[in-house]
Amino acid sequence: MNSRSSFNKSASLFLIGLVGVSLLAADAEKEPTVVTPGTHGTPPSDAIVLFDGKDLSAWNSENGGTPEWKVENGYVEVAGNGGILTKESFGDIQLHVEWAAPAEVKGEGQGRGNSGVYFQGRYEIQVLDSYQNPTYFNGQASAFYGHNAPLANASRKPGEWQAYDIVFHPPKADAGGQVKPGSFTVLHNGVLVQDHIPVNGDSTTAAKFSGVTQTGPLLLQNHGNPVHYRNVWLRKIPAN
Ligand code: MG
Repeated sequence: MNSRSSFNKSASLFLIGLVGVSLLAADAEKEPTVVTPGTHGTPPSDAIVLFDGKDLSAWNSENGGTPEWKVENGYVEVAGNGGILTKESFGDIQLHVEWAAPAEVKGEGQGRGNSGVYFQGRYEIQVLDSYQNPTYFNGQASAFYGHNAPLANASRKPGEWQAYDIVFHPPKADAGGQVKPGSFTVLHNGVLVQDHIPVNGDSTTAAKFSGVTQTGPLLLQNHGNPVHYRNVWLRKIPAN
C-alpha cells in the first residue's frame, strides 16, 4: 500500500467515524421512552385504562348521563339503551379491547353478537359473532365496517374472549380543508386483519358523529346484543 492510498483509507475511516458519531448523537436526542409492558393483554405502564372490569367511570352513555350497561364479574355487558362514549377524546391511538359474543347463540348474520368499536364516534371496527356465521364481508368481525373486509376470519367461538389490538390514525384536514387520509391497522386474536387501511373521513353508516376532527371519543356500540367487554386500554401515539 502506498502512502496516498493509506491516507485515503485513514480519511475514509475518519469520515465513517464522524458519521457514526453524528448518528449516535441523533439517536441520543430521541431516547425512547421507557414503557413497562403488560402481560397477556394487561395494560403497559403508560396506558390510559378505560375499563378495568370494575366500573365505567371513564364513560358516559351516548344518550347522556350514566351508562346503562351492566358491570359484573370483571366485564361489562351491553344493556339498556345506547352505546357508551369515553369522556375523554383521542387522536392517534393504539387500542386494546377484549370482547366476547354471547355464549348462547341467537340470530344470524348481523343479528348475532353485534356491537362495534367506533373511533372518534365515526369509524367502526365491527364486533360480531363471525364464528360460522356468514354475512357480507365488510360487515363481519374486525371489518372496517362498510369499507374493508378483514384479511382473515380469526374468530373464536361464541362466549370465548377475543382481543383486538388496533392502531388508528385519524384523517387530518390541512388549513385549506384538504383531507390527508388516516389509517387502521388491526390484529384480531393476534392475526393481522387490517393492514394500514386508509381512513378517508367518511363516517361509518349510522355513526354518532361525522366530519374530520383532530380528536374524538371512543364509542362502544349497543346493537341490542348482550356482548361482553373487558380490559379496555389505549396508548396515545406520540408524534414522530
Ligand atoms: Mg356493529
